Amino acid sequence: MSATAITIGDPLTEHEVSREKLEDIFGDICEHPLYDHELHGCLNCGICTATCPSAHYFDYSPREIVQLLWTENLEGIYDAMQEKIWACAQCYTCAARCPFGNSPGGLVSILREVSIKHGMQSAKDVLRPFSRVMLKLITTGNQLAPNMITPDHFADWGPNISKIDAPLQVLRKAVPMPTMHTTDTAWVVNLKTSIELYTIWEESGVLDQLETIDENLFDVIIDIMDEKREEYEDWLDEQDDD
Ligand code: SF4
Ligand code: SF4
Repeated sequence: MSATAITIGDPLTEHEVSREKLEDIFGDICEHPLYDHELHGCLNCGICTATCPSAHYFDYSPREIVQLLWTENLEGIYDAMQEKIWACAQCYTCAARCPFGNSPGGLVSILREVSIKHGMQSAKDVLRPFSRVMLKLITTGNQLAPNMITPDHFADWGPNISKIDAPLQVLRKAVPMPTMHTTDTAWVVNLKTSIELYTIWEESGVLDQLETIDENLFDVIIDIMDEKREEYEDWLDEQDDD
């Protein structure tokens, strides 16, 4: 271990990270545009943890996360990013209850973004099972067609979903877009829209982050984007010819 490195965690999972790296990570957290909106101070009162559903089931406490950030405990923040931040369900009950107007759930969201930016193993492990969802989302702009949103596909909705399922069917049909009604057409996206979408992913750095997290998925998506762009160029050429 170098003179500036710090060892965190128990002997089985310990990892080393330099002071520089810790400061780099904390810098990215503080520079996030939402950071100052989500953290205003902390009384350490624990109201957020008392109302947090995830705290009931996991070794996780939003109060602890907020305290780590508020006290600028860089080692503790890094340690929490290895596992604990992924226990948050992003329900934002905590944000509605905090007397300081903090949003612990929002802070967790920032920590997740930064963990992706730094290619942390925890982010790779958590996101790997969602690669098919990410593929659909990034290449088509959506991952579900409304007619896929049924109790059969989402068993965890429980039996009471039938009470709202019927109105949902009516609401879906009320949306005046043919693409909203079938699985077949929901993933057929206007070519120009696709190209604009890809440009947004590129310019916003989403693709760079994806490459950090999952290189194989990144390659597949780049191939699809190249194909679509060629198709679009051909279509433009045809318009010129006409
Ligand atoms: S957003 Fe996260 S931290 Fe806040 S109450 Fe919900 S699960 Fe807990
Ligand atoms: S974040 Fe808010 S609710 Fe949670 S411990 Fe701090 S002051 Fe209390």
